Amino acid sequence: MSSNNPQTREWQALSNDHHLAPFSDFKQLKVKGPRIITKAHGVYLWDSEGNKILDGMAGLWCVAIGYGRDELADAAAKQMKELPYYNLFFQTAHPPVLELAKVISEIAPAGMNHVFFTGSGSEGNDTMLRMVRHYWAIKGQPNKKTIISRKNGYHGSTVAGASLGGMTYMHEQGDLPIPGITHIAQPYWYGEGGDMSPEEFGIWAANQLEEKILELGVDNVGAFIAEPIQGAGGVIVPPETYWPRIKEILAKYDILFVADEVICGFGRTGEWFGSDFYGLKPHMMTIAKGLTSGYIPMGGLIVHDDVVAVLNEGGDFNHGFTYSGHPVAAAVALENIRILRDEKIVNRVHEETAPYLQKRLRELADHPLVGEVRGVGMLGAIELVQDKATRKRYEGRGVGMICRTFCFENGLIMRAVGDTMIISPPLVISKAEIDELVTKARQCLDLTLAALQG
Ligand SMILES: *Cc1c(COP(=O)(O)O)cnc(C)c1O
Repeated sequence: MSSNNPQTREWQALSNDHHLAPFSDFKQLKVKGPRIITKAHGVYLWDSEGNKILDGMAGLWCVAIGYGRDELADAAAKQMKELPYYNLFFQTAHPPVLELAKVISEIAPAGMNHVFFTGSGSEGNDTMLRMVRHYWAIKGQPNKKTIISRKNGYHGSTVAGASLGGMTYMHEQGDLPIPGITHIAQPYWYGEGGDMSPEEFGIWAANQLEEKILELGVDNVGAFIAEPIQGAGGVIVPPETYWPRIKEILAKYDILFVADEVICGFGRTGEWFGSDFYGLKPHMMTIAKGLTSGYIPMGGLIVHDDVVAVLNEGGDFNHGFTYSGHPVAAAVALENIRILRDEKIVNRVHEETAPYLQKRLRELADHPLVGEVRGVGMLGAIELVQDKATRKRYEGRGVGMICRTFCFENGLIMRAVGDTMIISPPLVISKAEIDELVTKARQCLDLTLAALQG
């Protein structure tokens, strides 16, 4: 973003001289310099140019309760003064992590009563991989190592996380995936369903799991991991037939099921977890993002009692992080969950604001550029196409990026995944703010269409 503001230019110079940004083309970023976000409140951000921007992505899917809640800052300050750090290794614990584990087990699905804490979602999935293999080794089935995941799923950016994820552009850098991880098709009907109906395609995609289990041999398969709704892949809401068929397959074979709830967890679907929304019965759930509303880093793995019963017989689990269950992060997470519960935010999403958002978003389906609008809860996707009937894209035009740039320029953050625009606003977004979001989105679709025709 070019600027005449000396303060902005100074920060951009610092970026050029010293900062390596995640998921960025370092050289290209130097040309324009990054947009500098300086403050935030509610669902809005402000940049160093003084622009006010409606954050349709809740940061990176995480700021559930919105920005600027002093209670979280106060909880962090209080904990920092009391006990800023202590580790959980060597048979030690501290009050905030214990209280947090209890509170999470209260809101998690039945039987999920234990939590292993990490510093991020990626670390949660690394923990999952090691725990799954440890579990089967304890049960005398050490060959049950392979984890089945899905193409275009997202499970983080550590070596294990990126391997579990199905992003080919991530695999291409650094010889991923690591051995013992394999991917099946994703339930992305709009992009990959061809001539099948969504219902047929959902069954087909789910059956890929059974085929893969049979191909590998069930004695070699440890777990299947999936996001209830794929987030970073493009807010992919599976056809209605998908999860019921997956559940049948999981019931038939002796493997573990891991729900990656890093995005869906903590209310985003209008239920506490995506697994509640789809009636899934995971053995493990990865969490992060909404756990602290992003105010401080924290992730974890919620583990079912049945799995814990086996782990209890396995001696030491030789795994953990210096910051596992960090007391300040735990105190912030506790306060975040208290607010979600006391202010009945998840309930309000379910009853009122998500139905409204979904209704208003679907009005965009009449726009000439829009092939499909889909979503669940506070998640939405808008497919941009050249031909609505055939779902044909504008090849090679970078439509998504064009639209994203217009959004930025017009005070709205919508993310582009290829030519799919996605949103995931803070759960506290009001109806009036939803109106503003949809109005701005339509305006940016108009600008994008005009740019394509111009
Ligand atoms: C963001 C994300 C992760 C990784 O979390 P980090 O905190 O970035 O490591 C894992 N799984 C899903 C579904 C995510 O969206």
